[in-house]
Amino acid sequence: MARAVVPVLVPVALEGPFSYRVPADMTVAPGAIVHVPFGPRQVIGVVWDGMPDGSVGDNRLRDIIRVYDCPPIGPDLRRFVDWVAHYYLAPRGQVLRMVLRAPEALDPEPSIPGVRRAGAAPERLTTARQRVLQLIDEGFAWSKSGLAASAGVSSSVIDGLIGAGTLEAAMLPPPAAVARPEPDYCPAALNAEQTIAADHLVAAIEARRYAVTLLDGVTGSGKTETFFEAIAATLRQGRQAVVMMPEIALTGAVLARFEARFGARPGEWHSDVAPRQRARLWRGLANGDVQVVVGARSSLFLPFRDLGLIVVDEEHDTAYKQEDRVPYNARDMAVVRGHIGGFPVILASATPSIETKANALAGRYAEVTLSERAGDARLPRLSTVDLRRHKPEFGRFLSPLLCEEVDKTLDRGEQALLFLNRRGYAPLTLCRSCGHRFQCPQCTTWMVEHRFRGVLMCHCCGHSIRTPQSCPACGDLDSLVACGPGVERIAEEVAERFAGRRTLVLSSDTPGGTARLRLELESIARGEVDLIIGTQLVAKGHNFPGLALVGVVDADLGLANGDPRAAERTFQMLAQVTGRAGRFSGEGRGLLQTHAPDHPVIKAIVAGDRDGFYAHELQERRLAGLPPYGRLAALVVSADTRDAAHAFARAVAANAPADPDFTLYGPVEAPIAVIRGRHRFRMLLKAPRAADMQAYLTRWLAATPKEQGGRRLHVDIDPQSFL
Ligand code: ADP
Ligand code: ZN
Repeated sequence: MARAVVPVLVPVALEGPFSYRVPADMTVAPGAIVHVPFGPRQVIGVVWDGMPDGSVGDNRLRDIIRVYDCPPIGPDLRRFVDWVAHYYLAPRGQVLRMVLRAPEALDPEPSIPGVRRAGAAPERLTTARQRVLQLIDEGFAWSKSGLAASAGVSSSVIDGLIGAGTLEAAMLPPPAAVARPEPDYCPAALNAEQTIAADHLVAAIEARRYAVTLLDGVTGSGKTETFFEAIAATLRQGRQAVVMMPEIALTGAVLARFEARFGARPGEWHSDVAPRQRARLWRGLANGDVQVVVGARSSLFLPFRDLGLIVVDEEHDTAYKQEDRVPYNARDMAVVRGHIGGFPVILASATPSIETKANALAGRYAEVTLSERAGDARLPRLSTVDLRRHKPEFGRFLSPLLCEEVDKTLDRGEQALLFLNRRGYAPLTLCRSCGHRFQCPQCTTWMVEHRFRGVLMCHCCGHSIRTPQSCPACGDLDSLVACGPGVERIAEEVAERFAGRRTLVLSSDTPGGTARLRLELESIARGEVDLIIGTQLVAKGHNFPGLALVGVVDADLGLANGDPRAAERTFQMLAQVTGRAGRFSGEGRGLLQTHAPDHPVIKAIVAGDRDGFYAHELQERRLAGLPPYGRLAALVVSADTRDAAHAFARAVAANAPADPDFTLYGPVEAPIAVIRGRHRFRMLLKAPRAADMQAYLTRWLAATPKEQGGRRLHVDIDPQSFL
């Protein structure tokens, strides 16, 4: 009898699925998670949809080894994997790998040996036995070791009670990943605007249909409070919800707020969560025991049993774009997952992306707005400091005007933040004697001085050297000068200018990692710091109750480069960071140091003219045919030598099919021409919105291997980076 053959997708960077034979005593359906031989290895795979590849001879087929005792990957998630792979031209197996992130979850967690009350107390009741019985009479089952430890007795006492028939051994289920949140545990008293917004969101949940809503609310307007109501409505339906946040590992405060609202913490999904807990969460979501997850972009690929809502918080954030492996945008794919699953998606931001704003204006997304801060808090008053007139002293970066404002703020017992989006001490080091500049030996980038650690470091590849005493080119001693500021250099200036104040530098390269940063953020919130110097890390979603003044050291940074999104990014960054001020009471202030106070972006921010900014930026994008009015794909070619990279790039470009809808720019040398010793050339493909980018690229690149003889081709759909 011919045995069944099924397609199985395996999490490797190859197009699949591959055909496997089902042993006679096994039954599998699409979605089943299986163990299969793959080359010389064994891997986890998922039985996929469709017919198996019939071209493989029966004698070459191998058997599925076993089926995991685990809920199958549902049809929606399988379709989603197919969709993402197709859209980003990535191997399906590579996308599946993002789903199978918790291999320990595939087998049920073993039960724990435990005991519970079974009969009357024994006649001989020692004090040790009494202590045990007191605990167990509270009604819970206990693990044997836990009971012995809590009662302060040896395990032989427990065994004795089992022997006497007072207790009985019982296997306890493993602990739940998280407790169940209750939708009506402690609802917030919403203000009028929030109520209108929440009602809209709840109605979308109750409709049980795909719909995207932009929740556009100024910083501190209570977006979190508002989308909590949508989560509550989802919980009432018995369905699951996921909230995606950038930097979730740092913004622990939202977990506490969730607990206050729902009586239990949500599941937490990001790279800092321990493997055991990740496995519990993964399995709990697959079997429906876990209702809500708050997580990083990768939570989009979790195996929800019945997902009913995705919230993308700070939807404009660039952290939603993964740049390596499968370069996907989790914000966009959240909308796709909602479409496939037929449920609502909420995109929340105080500074929505241009794409999302355009979708809202075009009516593809609904939009609800929160125009005022919650409670007594008001939006900060913003103004510029014209650096051409208010010059800092020589070798300094803080203007006297900004320093005076900081003094006044600190004298009132409030906090101030100085923001500069540049890590380290100085972005460039050069020799005063011979002009030598320190460049990374592997990249076309300047080495950034990190004075605290005593190194020069490449921010592109991480290469670092000890800061030398003398110039390696001319040998002069003490001739090296630091050019320009990073946060460490601002901290040095602050230490002199604001001596005696409690200061803290906050930057992603702070030693001690996420755990340390989290503690530091909490200490700021508790008011244990007067003056904070920080990179974009501090701009993201934090609530600092005592923060009254935000000084932006260099508001022009980011406006100068050739990135088509520079204006948008600068607007978002400045609005977010100044939005940290005055979130609780009083009047916050934001001061922007700039050489170009008349630049449209700076003017729009200071005037609080969000609508004006969006209208202007949308118009620019429309005229240029840029997203969302057109489509872009970047093709980056790299090789060991400049000549090889250039030749490969030209060869790839020469194969581009002629099609009046598609315009190819380049190849040109990339702005960062060399990274980690690999020479890079870029091409940019532009097409109208209605064009089928994927079909065109597939046709074009069918005969071009993505990797061959040290040459590599990287395709980036909807690129965010143009470097
Ligand atoms: P956003 O996410 O829009 O920046 P948050 O949800 O963090 O704003 O809310 C800002 C602050 O205002 C939080 O401390 C929150 O608890 C508070 N808040 C929000 N809504 C209300 C409300 N209706 N009444 C009182 N305080 C509120
Ligand atoms: Zn480098």
